Amino acid sequence: MVKIINFPENTPPDPLDEPQNPVAGGDEKAIKLMAEMLAGDIVDIRPQLDFITPLGFSYPYVESVLGVTSEEGLRILESLTNKEILGRVLFDRLLCCPQCQSVNLSPLTHCPKCGSGNITRGRILEHFVCNYVGLEEDFVAKGRYTCPKCRQELRTIGVDYQSQGLLRKCRDCGEVFNIPLIRWRCLKCASLTAEDRVTEIHIYSYHLNKDKKSWLEYELGPKPRLIEFLRQRGYTVIENATTKGRSGAEHKIDMLATKDEGIITYNIAIGVKVTGDRIGLEDIFNFDDAAYDSSIHNKILITAPPLSKEALSFGKLQKIRVLEAKDIEAVLAGATPIPGEGIKEQTFEYVSRSQLVEYLEHLGYQVKENAEIEGRSGVKHSLDVLAVRDDAIITHRVAISVEVAEEPVELDKLFDFDNKAYDIGILNKVFIAIPGLSQQARQFAKKQKIRVFEVKEPEPAG
Ligand SMILES: [Zn+2]
Ligand SMILES: [Zn+2]
Ligand SMILES: [Zn+2]
Repeated sequence: MVKIINFPENTPPDPLDEPQNPVAGGDEKAIKLMAEMLAGDIVDIRPQLDFITPLGFSYPYVESVLGVTSEEGLRILESLTNKEILGRVLFDRLLCCPQCQSVNLSPLTHCPKCGSGNITRGRILEHFVCNYVGLEEDFVAKGRYTCPKCRQELRTIGVDYQSQGLLRKCRDCGEVFNIPLIRWRCLKCASLTAEDRVTEIHIYSYHLNKDKKSWLEYELGPKPRLIEFLRQRGYTVIENATTKGRSGAEHKIDMLATKDEGIITYNIAIGVKVTGDRIGLEDIFNFDDAAYDSSIHNKILITAPPLSKEALSFGKLQKIRVLEAKDIEAVLAGATPIPGEGIKEQTFEYVSRSQLVEYLEHLGYQVKENAEIEGRSGVKHSLDVLAVRDDAIITHRVAISVEVAEEPVELDKLFDFDNKAYDIGILNKVFIAIPGLSQQARQFAKKQKIRVFEVKEPEPAG
């Protein structure tokens, strides 16, 4: 039986299999190869037969782009094929020596009966008179055909003799045969291998999987840039996050960015739809549903190709920021730097309104006190503090109410504030209550996701 090897065989544990990077597990070389293929529009990576190399073939493109050996190049190609990023088709088959793996083999023919290598190929004649069968050359004597066995002259073809055609004859045992026994002589280690013992290597040419192209472009460019941007801004980024919704259902969020600014905590759900296929309304609906059930109202959807008109208007209605994958880098480049960049966690303690404003400004917010804003209902509302910060991919708007009273603040105040924020369309709500909240108000705040700071001490003058 022919043993077929799919290279690479017996290679050490594959660094491409580490889970942190779905493209190539952090293998810089594999990532570089993908980037080069995308940039150069390289469709096919073809092997070149090259018997002086140890493998017997090589991939000149991979080796020149990455500066690697044939073996390393092949390992990278195979690893990307296992991840279905590359596809492969059979290009050629090579035989190799089972002893030393050399592809430098030479075929030797032998007699199938006695195994002798002493065989000759030629026209075979059969003499009907004596039934002798032999090579034409053995019949030729003095310009005539004479039977070497019975010594009679051969006269008319088809009558007293016939030709059996081109065949082989063993000079040792006399066997006449068509197909000889083949053995392979290794030109490197000199060992002789029977035909059914020789190793066969399959050589492939590789191509980029078409339906992975959009995904790959996103993974290699916009995605790492986006993650870096979010981290710089103090977000903790979790990929393939699992959230437990209010319904009890578990949801998968492609990327979850969270940041605790002390006064408010942000959760951003980032959905990634870069399939290269049409993105259906259902995809967006599912993403929106998962975010909603997980109580996440900051939603970004990354798409490639662009969404259909109806999908875009649904996204807009659901306050989903839709970003095309190819636009991400430009959007991030246009971001205004914020002070306190990179600060991960803040603690906030209310001291005074002026301190609150200062605190917010330090976090990069544009702060407006006693802001007059018209709600969706047409009613004009006044907010104690409106804080807005543009984080390039998302704009955070925070409504803050500061309520100073003699007694714990009652439900009606919170109710009014919540309505106001709802009418204006702000989902980040902070209520500062001095000297605290009533039990009822506290429950309401919790239900309506209003962040509450209960300040026991009376506010210092100024
Ligand atoms: Zn004869
Ligand atoms: Zn023989
Ligand atoms: Zn060998």
